[in-house]
Amino acid sequence: MRTPYIAGNWKMHKTIGEAEALAGQLRSAVANTAHTVMVAPPFTALQAVGAVLKGSNIKLGAQNMAAEEAGAHTGEISVLMLKDLGVEAVILGHSERRHTYGENNALINAKVKLAIQHGLTAILCVGETLEEREAGRVNAVVEEQLELGLDGVSEGQLGQVVIAYEPVWAIGTGKTATPEDADAVHQIIRSRLAGLYSQAAADAMVIQYGGSVKPDNASGLMAKPNIDGALVGGASLTVEQFLPIVQYDKG
Ligand code: PEP
Repeated sequence: MRTPYIAGNWKMHKTIGEAEALAGQLRSAVANTAHTVMVAPPFTALQAVGAVLKGSNIKLGAQNMAAEEAGAHTGEISVLMLKDLGVEAVILGHSERRHTYGENNALINAKVKLAIQHGLTAILCVGETLEEREAGRVNAVVEEQLELGLDGVSEGQLGQVVIAYEPVWAIGTGKTATPEDADAVHQIIRSRLAGLYSQAAADAMVIQYGGSVKPDNASGLMAKPNIDGALVGGASLTVEQFLPIVQYDKG
C-alpha cells in the first residue's frame, strides 16, 4: 500500500515573510491528513519555513541542489547545507532545470545519488515535451530519463526515491493530462521499474503526477491506480488551492 505524497513546489515565489505565513496556515490546515505532505520553498526561505514547520507533519523540501558536496561552485547550494536546514526531500530534474538551465540526465543522476547518500528523499522528475509527445516518443523519453536518472541506484535505496511524472506541456500551462493518459505513462514507468529492479520494488514506488494539478482535477487524477500523489506548482502557493489537493477525495 503506497502512501499518497503531495508536494508543493513554490518555485521562485514568496519572500521570507510570505513563506512563513503560508507555512503557518498549512501547518494547522493539514494536521490530520493521512497523506505525506511536503513543501519546497525557495532556498532563501528554507530556514524560516523549517522553523514554522518544526514538529508538524509537513516535510521540508528543496527545489534543487548541486551535484557536489562543496567547492568552487558559485551560486550553487550543497546537500550539506540543505541537511543543515533540516531538509528531508529534494526535487531533482524538474523540467525547468532540464529545459531552462540545461541540466542533462548525467548531472541529474549525480544529484540523485548524492541526495540518497546523504539520507534525503530524491524526487526525480521525468516527462516529455509537446514535440516529443507529438512525435510518439513519450515512452522512449520517459524511460530514458528514468533509467539514466536512476543509474547506480540500488533497489535497497529506492525507498528514498519518488518519481514525478510531469509532462512539460502541462506545467504551468493550465493543460492537464487526462487521468487516463497520465495513468498510462505511470504504468509505463512502473513497468520499467519492474524491469530495472523487481515487481515488488515497482509496486512500492510512489509516482506523483505534476502539471497544472488544481482542486478541481486532483481527485480524478488521484483516483487512477498508478497515480500516487501530486507535485503541485501554481496551486501550492495558497492554502485555499493547496488544501483541497492535499485532502483530495479518492472517491
Ligand atoms: C511544477 O512546478 O512541478 C508544476 C507541475 O507546476 P504547475 O502545477 O504550476 O503546472
